[in-house]
Amino acid sequence: MLSNLPVRRRLAGARSLLVLVLASAVIAAALHWWRSSSTDPADGGVSGGTTVDADVPAVENLDDDLRDALREAAADAAEEGIEVRVTSGWRSASHQKELLEQAVAEHGSEAEAARWVPTPDTSPHVTGDAVDIGGAEARAWLARFGAGYGLCQVYGNEPWHFELRPEAVEDGCPPPYADPTHDPRSHS
Ligand SMILES: [Zn+2]
Repeated sequence: MLSNLPVRRRLAGARSLLVLVLASAVIAAALHWWRSSSTDPADGGVSGGTTVDADVPAVENLDDDLRDALREAAADAAEEGIEVRVTSGWRSASHQKELLEQAVAEHGSEAEAARWVPTPDTSPHVTGDAVDIGGAEARAWLARFGAGYGLCQVYGNEPWHFELRPEAVEDGCPPPYADPTHDPRSHS
């Protein structure tokens, strides 16, 4: 019976449980980092991010018009001293599947994971129609001026995620979806 144990032993038990919980959290974080930084470039991995001109599949396999718009915007941002980095671009279906499995493990359910990571069948990253931008300054610059290049934030909960909306050059960007589950493409 737990209640019969001396208080010190119970405290020691609680402490070792806490150590165990902390240790597994550290291991989970390390595994996450290792998996995300060790993705094969052939699957769209860009360890630590890359430039918009990089000769890697994550950039090369983007839709041509999206890549052109991104390069044009990045060149103009660079003139203001801001570097636009690609933290994710095109991804293989198998890499997207991996990300989804990770998200289900992290968020506890498929429904919750879907708010952050679409499936290989619905992700615009897999078709080369989306880029994730790194650097707070670059994101802020693109949020402000991206529409002029047709580059729009699509999801309210993902300020790093941009897609090409050519009509935005004239009309401005459409209002973003709250999260990917509100995107009609997620249900196709
Ligand atoms: Zn994205």
